[in-house]
Amino acid sequence: MSYTVTKLADFSTAALDCAVRELLSALETEAESIRDWEQWKRFRDRWVARKNGILTQVRESWLKSAPTESKADVGQLFNRIKAQVEDKVDEIRQSTMSWEEERESGRPEESSAQSYSRASDAIRAIHLAKHVDVTLPGIRRPLGAEHPVIKTMNEIVGVFRNLGYSVEEGPEIETDYYNFEALNFPPNHPARDTQDTLFIAGQESKPQRDRLLLRTHTSPVQIRSMEKMRPPLRVVCPGKVHRNDAPDATHSPIFHQIEGLAVDTNITFCDLKGTLDHAMKALFGSSVKTRFYPSFFPFTEPSADVQISCIFCGGTGTRDGSPCRNCKASGWIELLGCGMVDPNVYGFVDYDPAKVAGFAFGMGVERIAILKYGVDDIQLFFNGDVRFLEQFA
Ligand SMILES: [Zn+2]
Repeated sequence: MSYTVTKLADFSTAALDCAVRELLSALETEAESIRDWEQWKRFRDRWVARKNGILTQVRESWLKSAPTESKADVGQLFNRIKAQVEDKVDEIRQSTMSWEEERESGRPEESSAQSYSRASDAIRAIHLAKHVDVTLPGIRRPLGAEHPVIKTMNEIVGVFRNLGYSVEEGPEIETDYYNFEALNFPPNHPARDTQDTLFIAGQESKPQRDRLLLRTHTSPVQIRSMEKMRPPLRVVCPGKVHRNDAPDATHSPIFHQIEGLAVDTNITFCDLKGTLDHAMKALFGSSVKTRFYPSFFPFTEPSADVQISCIFCGGTGTRDGSPCRNCKASGWIELLGCGMVDPNVYGFVDYDPAKVAGFAFGMGVERIAILKYGVDDIQLFFNGDVRFLEQFA
């Protein structure tokens, strides 16, 4: 008599166990009697047909009618039965296929006992094939790597961390107040024009200091840090900044900066020079020299541009007998801006300018990465071309 799925009244473990055993033994018995393709198809339909196959019946009459507290158990059980039934159907399909092939290729008829033993050989082979063949080559998964800009940024931050600086970050969308006013750029001051700013539209109704823009430098983070902390304070602020510059080999509307700020009661220009000289040697090698040139920034007084001796020609201005292109034969490369914090800035953050002094500096990360890695186009950092990026992995 062939197997039918019975309704379950009792969902105890023992009852379920018994029902499952009955089902699986029926599966084995029916599988053993299969001898050809037609029989296999009937077997498959009987067990796994979506409409009224035995698996579907089990789901309908066991799983769906199980009481809430046994639902999870019966669910797991059902999944196990399903996997076993499907495995069996597949297994028999493969062995049936190989008999059929042999029969077609004209082998002599076998007795049913012989054919049965060959079927179990086939089944054993299938089981073996399921195991992993460790002699096959593995699948290599490509590894990601740090982007050269991030790598350079981490390196610079690392130099200042070792000097006792902490890292601060701030928003990329800033107010006019933090980006300009608190840094001693008064409204309508011509120094604002040197930073081609991307303003957010539709804010004419707000007072100017509250209007939003994409920060043009990471200096607003210095103001935010001084508002949060009292001196002494040493912070570096790495981050992305935006300017309305058309992209070309040396300009990009997005780039990265690292700014630093140190404020204490006894800081002098000597500390600034010593700190930056150390940082440049740490980044470019101990033979690099630095020099400071007078400059102007609204938030520092006095201000300076820092130049390092050309790392390509060793500061001589000539390479292989011809003028060095990297430093335009001057022997020096301009790298960053710095200065002593303008006392006006302390007024915005409630520090006493009579008691504290400090210095600030800022550098472009791409500019340093370009020098370090000999890259000739800043756009390469932003194009996302893996052929370029994997050279830094
Ligand atoms: Zn040079």
